[in-house]
Amino acid sequence: MPLSHGRPYLAIPGPSVIPDRVLQAMHRPAPEIHGGAMVQLLESLLPDLRAVARTRHKVAMYISNGHGAWEAGLANVLARGDKILALATGRFGHGWAEVAQGLGADVEVMDFGKRAPVDLDRVAARLAEDRAHEIRAVTVVHVDTATSVKNDIAGLRAALDAAGHPALLMVDCIASLGCDRFEMDDWGVDVMVSACQKGLMVPPGLGFVFFNDRAEAARARADMATQYWDWRMRADPQEFYQYFWGTAPTHHLYGLRAALDMLVQEEGMQAAWARHERLARTVWAAIDAWGADGPMEANIADPACRSHAVTAVQLGAPNGTALREWLSETAGVTLGIGLGMAAPGDPAWHGFFRIAHMGHVNAHMVLGALGSIEAGLDALDIPHGRGALGAAAAVVAGR
Ligand SMILES: *Cc1c(COP(=O)(O)O)cnc(C)c1O
Repeated sequence: MPLSHGRPYLAIPGPSVIPDRVLQAMHRPAPEIHGGAMVQLLESLLPDLRAVARTRHKVAMYISNGHGAWEAGLANVLARGDKILALATGRFGHGWAEVAQGLGADVEVMDFGKRAPVDLDRVAARLAEDRAHEIRAVTVVHVDTATSVKNDIAGLRAALDAAGHPALLMVDCIASLGCDRFEMDDWGVDVMVSACQKGLMVPPGLGFVFFNDRAEAARARADMATQYWDWRMRADPQEFYQYFWGTAPTHHLYGLRAALDMLVQEEGMQAAWARHERLARTVWAAIDAWGADGPMEANIADPACRSHAVTAVQLGAPNGTALREWLSETAGVTLGIGLGMAAPGDPAWHGFFRIAHMGHVNAHMVLGALGSIEAGLDALDIPHGRGALGAAAAVVAGR
């Protein structure tokens, strides 16, 4: 019996749940874009974006999704033929590497598989080998949304420093920004790319590239960026239209203002990180209990290496797809598909799902999703351990 009428819950890892305040802020007539309130609005966003990224450095904004931010970040620091070391811990690490290849970089992919973080020792050994410092940049995904692994960014900076290696450290925080603790300046990140539709709670359409002085220096010899993607004008505009090199994404900016009010001005970054951490542990407690007697397991075994924004789960085929379909049809909850875990034509593709707990998500939403999953496991006769909901509630209760 369908029990899905009511407010649907899209628990896929992006786009995330959009707060009503963000939607309401966007629901208004178009503004004048050559002066006045729009200019002030945009300028008010910049300090708050820096606060989210934990940086005092510059940001360039684009009307783009995450793929656009990927391209912009690379194109402004690399010259054609430059060598980069692309660290991959899931589909998104490979995706960024493919963008670099398409731009004309010489890309060396170091693959750590789908169930583990970057191995810092292997990276250190590769950097030590590169005595001529041919590697211009190391790219890494902070949280790979496909595997839900979280990589140790401070550890990568330490490995670069220990090797005395000048390569730029470039980090994709598209899934993690606003959810998992990230410290751009303290962790020595040179370029950080993100987008607005995940932890920032705004509909897809804004890409961000944050960059420090070292990255700015690399811009001088970079030759991949066409005028549209050049970050110089966007980060240091002389005229308002240069922020977006054309018409500003007016309504996205209203939405972003509301989202940053909620995240930075009202909740605060420390509290937002703590909320995500607690809600992630709530999800993991349920998965552990279900997995005690059945096929379910978290894709990443070590909780210290798991994202607080999304959890990838293995359930065996065809259970993953069956559970997702049951949940959306019967309970009004949509879980994420497994991404890059098996090829689309492969029957094994149906063995995965992901639960997003990023952005505008609270305890009752997570407990509701978990309760619906428990019902789905029962309804579909998928073997599972008992006590998951009690275990999840205990984490929410702080027990
Ligand atoms: C979502 C995501 C992307 C891609 O963003 P799009 O907006 O879909 O282009 C890249 N990297 C990570 C880590 C992501 O989560």
